[in-house]
Amino acid sequence: MLPLPAMDSRQGAGQGSRMLNVPSQSFPGPRSQQRVASGGRSKVPLKQGRSLMDWIRLTKSGKDLTGLKGRLIEVTEEELKKHNKKDDCWICIRGFVYNVSPYMEYHPGGEEELMRAAGSDGTDLFDQVHRWVNYESMLKECLVGRMAIKPALPKDYREEKKVLNGMLPKSQVTDTLAREGPSSPSMDNRSESPQFNFAIRTNFLSLLLLPPVTLLITQSRTNRAGPGEDINLGSITVDHQGDSFRVETIIKDYSYLIHIGLSHEIQEDFSVQVVENVGKIEIVLKKKESTTWKSLGCPLENHNSLLPKKDTDLYYRKCQLISKEDVTHDTKLFSVMLPPSTHLQVPVGQHVYLKLTIAGTEIVKPYTPVSDSLVPEFKEPVFPNSKYIYFLVKIYPAGLFTPELDLLQIGDYVSVSNPEGSFKISQFQEMEDLFLLAAGTGFTPMVKVLHYALTGIPSLRKVKLMFFNKTEDDIIWRSQLEKLALKDKRFDVEFVLSAPPSEWSGKQGYISPALLSEFLKKSLEKSKVLICICGPTPFTEQGMKLLHDLNFSKDEIHSFTA
Ligand code: FAD
Ligand code: NAP
Repeated sequence: MLPLPAMDSRQGAGQGSRMLNVPSQSFPGPRSQQRVASGGRSKVPLKQGRSLMDWIRLTKSGKDLTGLKGRLIEVTEEELKKHNKKDDCWICIRGFVYNVSPYMEYHPGGEEELMRAAGSDGTDLFDQVHRWVNYESMLKECLVGRMAIKPALPKDYREEKKVLNGMLPKSQVTDTLAREGPSSPSMDNRSESPQFNFAIRTNFLSLLLLPPVTLLITQSRTNRAGPGEDINLGSITVDHQGDSFRVETIIKDYSYLIHIGLSHEIQEDFSVQVVENVGKIEIVLKKKESTTWKSLGCPLENHNSLLPKKDTDLYYRKCQLISKEDVTHDTKLFSVMLPPSTHLQVPVGQHVYLKLTIAGTEIVKPYTPVSDSLVPEFKEPVFPNSKYIYFLVKIYPAGLFTPELDLLQIGDYVSVSNPEGSFKISQFQEMEDLFLLAAGTGFTPMVKVLHYALTGIPSLRKVKLMFFNKTEDDIIWRSQLEKLALKDKRFDVEFVLSAPPSEWSGKQGYISPALLSEFLKKSLEKSKVLICICGPTPFTEQGMKLLHDLNFSKDEIHSFTA
């Protein structure tokens, strides 16, 4: 939202009315490959000198952007309300107040979108659009101060004094804050929250005697998610850095956090196991020295908290760039290595955020991890997949993030967030026909979807991919796709080019009713179908409309967005 120019794919036609959103005006750029040259699709001029880079330059210029000459003040609600005009606009986000007037012209969502939060608390509006945006960094020169009445702190500071021994407290989370005990996870009582119930235990004897120390997290049977939504290895991320041991578990739309300052050193490798359908996670830590631990450690920030996922901050770890290979003239396959003491598996259909500091400002963009290849014989599996993450990234020469990513040398670092995304494996249940509609790098989520469907769905009869690109040179992994189609009779691929050469005998044009109705032929009249779509926002929106016109139901369609 607020400080995010040209950030993601929520751009393009029909987006202008979306709250604090990335607007059609600014992205894709007039000469961008993501913009359409003709045919009535959206093309809106961008104001010169108001790009994200221009904003970064202004913030570094030393100009007084708050009008307070560097002073920070305590802002009362009455004071905040007064600053509700375009040329005097203050907005509160998570208890901090920013003077966003100087930013108005740079906001890709437009001035009107910013004005919706003028003189008030814009936190909810912000979270609805881009809770991952690093507004603190983007707006740091606009900081006026703190709200005089501070918002409730998510953390229970009374926990700070505690020492965690073998038996950690049983957590009971209900939708009523008042009922929570001092060590209970905190909970947003505004949301429709199911009741969760956790027990975290360690084997007390293992602390005293020999390694290993086992951390057991169990979710109560009564409150577990539906079929296919149980805790699995993809829903847990574990990070061990210094003495901080952090376990985040995603259950439905909630995030449950264990965050402990370990009292003693442990070895780099720990194991994470999940007993699916039982809701039990077992993390086995190996002591570095076979000494007696008097306690497991102390609770750190937000330890033992359960929050709606949308209200939690994204957690990043620094990953090292291991390789970079050309895939097409403008797309590369990057592989990054997770830090040694990390467990992170990006679930099928989900993305992560990559973060780089560009001109002193942290910039964050979403990317969808892929596998290293579609067909194993294309690549010797050099690295264990659990430690490496692969990205297919198109480099936009005039873009902000991708040229910087491309400049990274092997051995350099990029920060990678925890996974996000609305796609659920349960959408595959009993699926018989899978149709994939991808445009450009919108192909990236299809890579894992395709692999999962072909290897993990016994009911599957047919998978078809319709892949839209401008020219043949733009097609990502074309020969791998053709090889896969030869190898697996259930899979078929069709390439559609919007700017084909004269000798092209395949399909051409843009997504259309004619192309779709021919493509979406079911293997049986009553086949259970799933259609996945991803590409430039106008492509996806147009595709969704056409699919609804063809009478496919909401449950039969998944569109990939941020
Ligand atoms: P930007 O700075 O955003 O610019 C892109 C283009 O628009 C450039 O040509 C630039 O010149 C033009 N432009 C930008 N701003 C302006 C402006 N204000 N005025 C005029 N022109 C402008 N991409 C991938 O390659 N691989 C992925 O796996 C992937 N996964 C994604 C997953 C999700 C959920 C989403 C939402 C997007 C994903 N993307 C992916 C897209 C990615 O997040 C970035 O949007 C993309 O890499 C462009 O970033 P950039 O900063 O380099 O370019
Ligand atoms: P691109 O090369 O600009 O476009 C790919 C194809 O789609 C081209 O044939 C293009 O035609 C066509 N196209 C573009 N806009 C269209 C529209 N409005 N209607 C119909 N067809 C259209 O694509 P790209 O640069 O790789 O960009 C891929 C997009 O996918 C990005 O916006 C990225 O953010 C998004 N993405 C999203 C996710 C996700 O949400 N999970 C993941 C990955 C990528 P012309 O070139 O001839 O116009």
